[in-house]
Amino acid sequence: MHDLGVGITLGAHQSIGFKGILLFGSDAQKKKYLPKLATGEAIAAFCLTEPGSGSDAASIKATAVKSECGQYYTLNGGKIWISNGGLADIFTVFAKVPVKDGATGEVKDKITTFIVERGFGGVTSGPPEKKMGIKASNTAEVHFDEVKVPAENVLGDIGGGFKVAMNILNNGRFGMAAALSGTMKGVIARAVDHAANRTQFGNKIHNYGAIQEKVAHMAMLQYVTESMAYMISANMDSGATEFQIEAAISKIFASEAAWVVADECIQLLGGMGFMKDAGVERVMRDLRIFRIFEGTNDILRLFVALNGIQTAGNHLKGLQRALKNPVGNANLLIGEISKRVKRKAGLSTGVTLSDSVHPELNHSGDLVVKAIERFGGCTEVLLLKYGKRIVDEQFLLKRVADSAIDLYAMVVVLSRASRSLSQRQASAQHEKLLCETWCIEAYARITDSLDSLSSSSAKQVFKNMRAISAAVVSNGGTVTPHPLGF
Ligand SMILES: Cc1cc2nc3c(=O)[nH]c(=O)nc-3n(C[C@H](O)[C@H](O)[C@H](O)COP(=O)(O)OP(=O)(O)OC[C@H]3O[C@@H](n4cnc5c(N)ncnc54)[C@H](O)[C@@H]3O)c2cc1C
Repeated sequence: MHDLGVGITLGAHQSIGFKGILLFGSDAQKKKYLPKLATGEAIAAFCLTEPGSGSDAASIKATAVKSECGQYYTLNGGKIWISNGGLADIFTVFAKVPVKDGATGEVKDKITTFIVERGFGGVTSGPPEKKMGIKASNTAEVHFDEVKVPAENVLGDIGGGFKVAMNILNNGRFGMAAALSGTMKGVIARAVDHAANRTQFGNKIHNYGAIQEKVAHMAMLQYVTESMAYMISANMDSGATEFQIEAAISKIFASEAAWVVADECIQLLGGMGFMKDAGVERVMRDLRIFRIFEGTNDILRLFVALNGIQTAGNHLKGLQRALKNPVGNANLLIGEISKRVKRKAGLSTGVTLSDSVHPELNHSGDLVVKAIERFGGCTEVLLLKYGKRIVDEQFLLKRVADSAIDLYAMVVVLSRASRSLSQRQASAQHEKLLCETWCIEAYARITDSLDSLSSSSAKQVFKNMRAISAAVVSNGGTVTPHPLGF
């Protein structure tokens, strides 16, 4: 709520800096490092990004070569934009290690993770980067020059570093939704203080519809973000291991929701919002990086869509297998066929959430079911049409991801508002309003996105966009001449 720069200092330390030791560390590694990391006596950082390797993390160039005696690795390479890079004592570092294939004898470079102490020697860091926001957070280059890393400091398996990196990031992402729901709370309080006290045209501005729409929208975005953070945390706490898609959704949603909330707060404050003294411009600058780091939202959208589609693909493969033995799988096939026929005819497949949602939210529950059925049908059609080529259809994948994000948002608010109503909490009726409104609007957005997966006008738009982009890129900027010929 108060300062995202401080939030990132803590996040880089515990959410990604030493998370690898928690998740993959041996008992000896945990015993050696975790106590001083937990007390803050030692600060941690996560070193993945390099000048030539950002989103494409597998393309890192840093190397680590095992010594002849087998007791240490010599680490070389440079990492950039490392949060806590200038302060950290302990680094989780990713580097490529030459690994000989036991069967073929072929040597391949495979990413491996190391716990590196600044005290090993050869570790240097650059000056703090001058940034747009989160200025309280230290961001710096970190260089590893002939660093001798003891062999016992390999984290996880040799060659298993990509998996370690992805697990750390997947495991830490929910924290962003938690942090940003606090940020939004603070910003909303600032906005409504102004709305309640500022008089224009003889009325407090909160009485005007345009302002009410903003405040309601901001409150819904905060409610969804907070609900996602706690739903995912609860799932993780209860031992779920398949939370990657939800965690990615929460990071995308939270970072975009917080941006909209801060932007609308500035709008609501009018000229005052643009003044440094109001304090919201700093929040906005601080927020911008959240759509970029720990996986850009664009890449995460592809991740959400492709992972989800892979699950649908596996289901289809199961059906294909069942079709080879229709007698033995009659029940499964009849169920699937009747589901598909009903879907095609626009009928409900009979799935209902009425046992799980509070009766006052039945309409929202029905919208979720309708959206999920439509979503399932559309992704299957995409898979059947494109097969593996779907990975190159980013215009479509973005819309699949947007629908999945809206769907998950509907589910989490439905769950939370139902709980509040069932427990007769003081805020239950307010939460019902938030949930109902969210579900109605999200359902309309999902329908729009899913329509565009097959509509001819959307196809035309995508084709045009490709052509416009190609022309602007090849021209080095906008193509059209100045209207006055300048
Ligand atoms: C303040 C700050 C702190 C950071 N902290 C850390 C840290 O602690 N540790 C660390 O390792 N890194 C850190 N980073 C790095 C950060 O994680 C990367 O900036 C981020 O992963 C994106 O990589 P990139 O900047 O190289 O962008 P690129 O990967 O070059 O991407 C540029 C643009 O192209 C898009 N794009 C790329 N590939 C595709 C594709 N296949 N399809 C569609 N679009 C694509 C991206 O979405 C993006 O919009 C930090 C960065 C900053 C700015």
